[in-house]
Amino acid sequence: MKNSEAILVTPKHFEIQECPVPEPKENEILLKVEYVGMCGSDIHGFEFGPFIPPKDPNQKIGLGHEVAGEVAAIGSKVTKFKVGDKVLIEPGVPDNTCDYCKTGRYNICPGVDFMATQPNYKGALTQYMTHPEEWTYHIPEGMTTMEAALVEPAAVGMHAAILGEARLGKSIVILGAGTIGLMVLQACLSLGATDITVVDVIEKRLDLAEKLGAKRVINGKEQDTVAYLRSEELYGDHGVELVFECGGSVFLAQQAVQIVARGGRIMMVGTQSKPVPIDFLKINREVTIQTSFRYCNNFPQTIEAIATGKFNVKDMVTNIYDYKDVQQAFEDAIDPVKKTEMIKGVVKVSD
Ligand SMILES: [Zn+2]
Repeated sequence: MKNSEAILVTPKHFEIQECPVPEPKENEILLKVEYVGMCGSDIHGFEFGPFIPPKDPNQKIGLGHEVAGEVAAIGSKVTKFKVGDKVLIEPGVPDNTCDYCKTGRYNICPGVDFMATQPNYKGALTQYMTHPEEWTYHIPEGMTTMEAALVEPAAVGMHAAILGEARLGKSIVILGAGTIGLMVLQACLSLGATDITVVDVIEKRLDLAEKLGAKRVINGKEQDTVAYLRSEELYGDHGVELVFECGGSVFLAQQAVQIVARGGRIMMVGTQSKPVPIDFLKINREVTIQTSFRYCNNFPQTIEAIATGKFNVKDMVTNIYDYKDVQQAFEDAIDPVKKTEMIKGVVKVSD
């Protein structure tokens, strides 16, 4: 058995390097990687280097954390899995000891060991990797390994939708229809919501949002989003009960403030890399602003939603690259023209 890993040697430059096949510890599986999803954070890391730079300048930087494949070996104490099982993994391993973990909020555990970030920068763009059995899931019948690799970003949407209390009867607006916005859309739909408006400026994304089940879409370049949503024909003076910011944009965050209803909720899902000035006078009628981070106990329900056809991740995949073309994959993802065509890219590491 041979192994290799895609290492980011400098920003914008991957090198596929040979490396040893890791030995699973007693509670770990050895995963033969099949598909890896390209996350916005990986693409950002490729372009600029990691969000949190490593302390050691010789630290190898791997990317990728949306991953599924086949069990190639198991540690001596593994009981849930056997060699040959198709599995997907949850890429954050919390410490299980802090107050957050103990109170069931492991997604905000400060001691979490999350893939492709500090302290280990261990990426999924590799042929073989180990992972704890506890954070590994079976892929059910009818779900492909490629779909399984997209459970992770889908779970981000599921967590945000549940935290935001999306349900049938609520008016919902999703600002930003990139991967995460479209995942939030589908999570809201799978929870029963129907009155969902999706806003973006890229027609291809809006077409997909409609196909996936949005009630209406708004192209923010062609229409005044706030005026339209606030028109008598739509939500008028009342406003929108639940607004998701999924673009990581100051502009969209400020739009959220302008459209949210009294007593409504703004879910901040996108990563805001700059401070956002908020006019609190506009939302002084008991509006909740809530950030959402990764996911917490959402993998089983997300797997169920995808396996039963309530949640369509397959149609979000616009680009599939071979592992040997990983450099090209990420170059395309940062190319100003090509990136507008890419909704979700995946890397096929093996069959
Ligand atoms: Zn913890």
